[in-house]
Amino acid sequence: MDFEYSAEDQAFREEVREFLQENLPQDMREGARRTTTVFADKQLAMRWQAILVKKGWAVPPWPVEYGGTDWTVTQKYIWSEECAKASAPGLIPLGLRMLAPVLFKYGTQEQKDYYLPRMLSGEHYWCQGYSEPGSGSDLASLRTTAVKDGDDYIVNGTKIWTTHAQFADHIFCLVRTDPDVRPQAGISFVLIPMDTPGVTVEPIITIAGDHEVNQVFLDDVRIPQSNRVGPENEGWQAAKYLLEFERGGGGAAVRLKVDLEELLAIAHTEGGDGLRLIDVAAFRNRISELEIRTSALEFAELATLARMSQGLSPGIGSSVAKTSSVEIDQAIETLKLEAIGCYSMPHANKISLNGFNESWPGPAYAETVTPKYINLRAASIFGGAKEVQKNILAKTVLGL
Ligand SMILES: Cc1cc2nc3c(=O)[nH]c(=O)nc-3n(C[C@H](O)[C@H](O)[C@H](O)COP(=O)(O)OP(=O)(O)OC[C@H]3O[C@@H](n4cnc5c(N)ncnc54)[C@H](O)[C@@H]3O)c2cc1C
Repeated sequence: MDFEYSAEDQAFREEVREFLQENLPQDMREGARRTTTVFADKQLAMRWQAILVKKGWAVPPWPVEYGGTDWTVTQKYIWSEECAKASAPGLIPLGLRMLAPVLFKYGTQEQKDYYLPRMLSGEHYWCQGYSEPGSGSDLASLRTTAVKDGDDYIVNGTKIWTTHAQFADHIFCLVRTDPDVRPQAGISFVLIPMDTPGVTVEPIITIAGDHEVNQVFLDDVRIPQSNRVGPENEGWQAAKYLLEFERGGGGAAVRLKVDLEELLAIAHTEGGDGLRLIDVAAFRNRISELEIRTSALEFAELATLARMSQGLSPGIGSSVAKTSSVEIDQAIETLKLEAIGCYSMPHANKISLNGFNESWPGPAYAETVTPKYINLRAASIFGGAKEVQKNILAKTVLGL
């Protein structure tokens, strides 16, 4: 493999750096650095999305005719690397990176032409209605029903852990349209405007004190059958396809490298008894191990990016990336928590959403550590629990 960047790629990197320098305002960089939740603050992400849409760089993987770029794999990688280094806010993936690939593959022309431009402009903000009480890992057991009534469906049931449902104006949902067949064969994929009568949202406050997830109740919700994506009872294929993009479409390693740099900076500062943590072999070795694992993840993600550039989905690489990136991420935050010692105690919650915490008593690098550490506990559950991902890898890759 050739690790040298071509002159063309170097020039592209310069162009990206220049763009970020001129268009990514300092307050947005600061907001992104202080984000401790799964997704960036909605306002922050949408401001950045608008800037990128104007430039034509918001959705590099999309087909060019819908607003994507014709960048090579290397250029896409350079883009995500430079964004991570510049502390650009992450765009909210629910529509752009999760529903959009499903619409490209399974949607009608009418659905693509209606939903994709609105997703890009920010007019539509999506949430994901997959999980239900009792149906998470065993998703195919879901019980929300959609029963035909003329040209419509009447939807009844409840969805849970629905991230950003409090902000969303649309939800994509898995519903049961045939209860009398094998569970996977009776599921359809439907799109529901949140202002439809019968849709209600109840907040769930997490252990981190954040309001990110919700329970969504669907009571006699009437939607046209034309809101179904793909054929009736064949939604399971679309559902699984979406999960590949949710679990990993590349870009985790570049962010982890920035986190590792932050950890290194802390280890060069914190310590005791005349020793910095970086001088303690046991601590240094734990950082080295994470650096090596991050490099391995980076190569796996490059392979996934190459697949996607050929029009393929992320495939099994998504389960590798999800499992590995979460383990590394949690380990980095654990080391940071150990390193900052007493500053891990004051729990400066919601700082990413509410701006600066004037009364923070410690060094700036310690301020976000505890809330992020706590929030990150959920990362080995959402998007498919770690144990279940390992089961998938054991079956698919190892043939066990
Ligand atoms: C912060 C957060 C945000 C989320 N956002 C969304 C969202 O926007 N939309 C949405 O639809 N869902 C969302 N989810 C739900 C998420 O997808 C589910 O929580 C996840 O799939 C696990 O399902 P469960 O919670 O029902 O746990 P369970 O499936 O009950 O699992 C409980 C435990 O049992 C283990 N387990 C289960 N089955 C097996 C098995 N076969 N072998 C070994 N171990 C097993 C799991 O690994 C886990 O440790 C979110 C969850 C969280 C925590």
